[in-house]
Amino acid sequence: MVEYAHPSILPHDGRFGSGPTKIRSEQLSTLAAAPLGTSHRAQPVRSLVGSVREGLAELFALPDGYEIALGNGGASLVWEALTFSLVQKRAAHAVCGEFSAKFADLTDGAPHLDPSVIARAEVGTFQPLPEAPDADTLAFAHNETSTGVLSPLHHAEAAPGQLVVVDATSVAGALDVHLAGIDVYYFSPQKALGADGGLWFAILSPAAIERIEAVCASRWVPPMLDLARALAASRKNQTYNTPSIVNLALLDSQVRWLRERGGLAWAEERCRNLSGALYTFAESHPLVRPFVTEPAYRSPVVATLDIDESINADDVRARLTELAGIVDIAPYRKLGRNQIRVGCFPAVERHDLDALIAWLEWALEDAADA
Ligand SMILES: *Cc1c(COP(=O)(O)O)cnc(C)c1O
Repeated sequence: MVEYAHPSILPHDGRFGSGPTKIRSEQLSTLAAAPLGTSHRAQPVRSLVGSVREGLAELFALPDGYEIALGNGGASLVWEALTFSLVQKRAAHAVCGEFSAKFADLTDGAPHLDPSVIARAEVGTFQPLPEAPDADTLAFAHNETSTGVLSPLHHAEAAPGQLVVVDATSVAGALDVHLAGIDVYYFSPQKALGADGGLWFAILSPAAIERIEAVCASRWVPPMLDLARALAASRKNQTYNTPSIVNLALLDSQVRWLRERGGLAWAEERCRNLSGALYTFAESHPLVRPFVTEPAYRSPVVATLDIDESINADDVRARLTELAGIVDIAPYRKLGRNQIRVGCFPAVERHDLDALIAWLEWALEDAADA
């Protein structure tokens, strides 16, 4: 049996999760100056919320009339809030994996709505929105984190009266997007934006704001799910209930970091460089292949790589953790594939990704030889 020498490179930071993700240590050091332990109605926290909202508005270059709302509960809460506060009668969904399925199943089962029109993809492929002329809401995930499928942002033709609602949780902050034509672009900050879980943000078009105000005025909506209420509080740089100030400060620091480096264009180039190195590696290695076969739909931020059945991917991951401190590269649990899934978010350093590839190559060779 051949002894393969360990790679000489080690990651400085071995966190490659697809959410939550790596938080940079510089972000942590800004916490000492954050207004922790202060009322969210008081000025220092409102200034922080204001800074986050302005920073995000600049980062995303919001089209005229668009506004940013925020609240507690993460993207999962937004699915429920949209079901109560935005969908009028019927939603249509493109489902590419577990996250887009959760929202589709929610609107489909809501007793106050008509059954949803749902088109489901074969796992690992892109699914365009279904034809649904009588739907008032068209929904899909920009980056389906469970499979690593990126859907083109502008693939849907909305008819008059239809709103396009995009779950951008794991890609917002990593792709250079142009939001004109998109009515709701929502996300949590613990993925591409490298902060922590628990908050949600939604970028709303004028048409979405008008719809939300009309729907919330016309039916009973639980206050936590009332987007009109959330927007009214957000305009005052407040939230309906107490937010995590730690999280807001982590996010504020990361948004500033992204903007100082060149914003979304810089982030996209950086993430494509990281994930591109993984896809190139997978295409050239006999025991690895990109799970998403169509290159155009491969996520630039969540790289899913299938490992040959002759090798147990669980064992490979365990060795990477034990010997190189590389963590959180398991596939989405329900997908159940012999796979690794690597978060290639803006906070990840190329050196660390190169170390991951070197160790992966080593572990595969070692396992194939055993
Ligand atoms: C992680 C994720 C969610 C859920 O986000 P939470 O903040 O945990 O509620 C929703 N959609 C996508 C695409 C995700 O990646």
